[in-house]
Amino acid sequence: MARTPLIAGNWKLNLDHLEATHTVQKLAWLLRDAKHDFTKVEAAVMASFTSLRSVQTLIDADKLEIKYGAQDISEHASGAYTGEVSGSQLAKLGCDYAVVGHSERREYHGESDATVAAKAKAAFDNGIVPIVCVGEGLDIRKAGDQVSYTLAQVEGSLAGIPAEQAKDVVIAYEPVWAIGTGEVATPADAQEVCGAIRGKLAELYSPELAAGVRVLYGGSVKSSSIAQLMAEPDVDGGLVGGASLDPEEFAKIVRFLE
Ligand code: PEP
Repeated sequence: MARTPLIAGNWKLNLDHLEATHTVQKLAWLLRDAKHDFTKVEAAVMASFTSLRSVQTLIDADKLEIKYGAQDISEHASGAYTGEVSGSQLAKLGCDYAVVGHSERREYHGESDATVAAKAKAAFDNGIVPIVCVGEGLDIRKAGDQVSYTLAQVEGSLAGIPAEQAKDVVIAYEPVWAIGTGEVATPADAQEVCGAIRGKLAELYSPELAAGVRVLYGGSVKSSSIAQLMAEPDVDGGLVGGASLDPEEFAKIVRFLE
């Protein structure tokens, strides 16, 4: 089954709403100048909550084909959850995606697989595609347990998600030791785990469903490394942190086919 590659930028805690709109505008100009075909490679940015309304306004006004989303989503629909942002609020802001279970949220906010699954469900229930992040730390990699560890995260993070929703999920394999370190996984390392994730999806759901799900690699992706990673059969795109803050570099990553 043909899977449209997705290059998604994760801006993390960077860019105020003015910087965010400038970055989207510049990215759009670069991709327009290059006559980028968004049906061949999808491009998206994951902005801070405070920037989403401005990004939405710009993208709608200029009819840009760049997609966007949030970096987190509440598992709750409404109520006494101070500081949380719900799926329906994000849907009203036109979010296509929401990142859930990023390793930084798992580590600094104690998010468990069950929380990640609840957030993924909240996204789906509001028409937002969750980008579910999984991946092992250095100790697990050194012990050679990266596949079993990551597959357990996949299973736990999709618990209770029915096939009708899971068919649209995006999984991002992000080995924690590669995030923000400049140390990108080798294409073979990425393929080993991304392929195993697809196998797990086949086991949890069906081979047909697994064949349609996009599995991204994330961890120090740059324009110099993306093409080799994308040459692997089970790598369907990238979740890009630091390099997505520079529109020129990010546009080059989106244009990896050139
Ligand atoms: C990320 O934050 O998801 C990420 C992969 O970051 P970086 O590309 O900077 O390693």
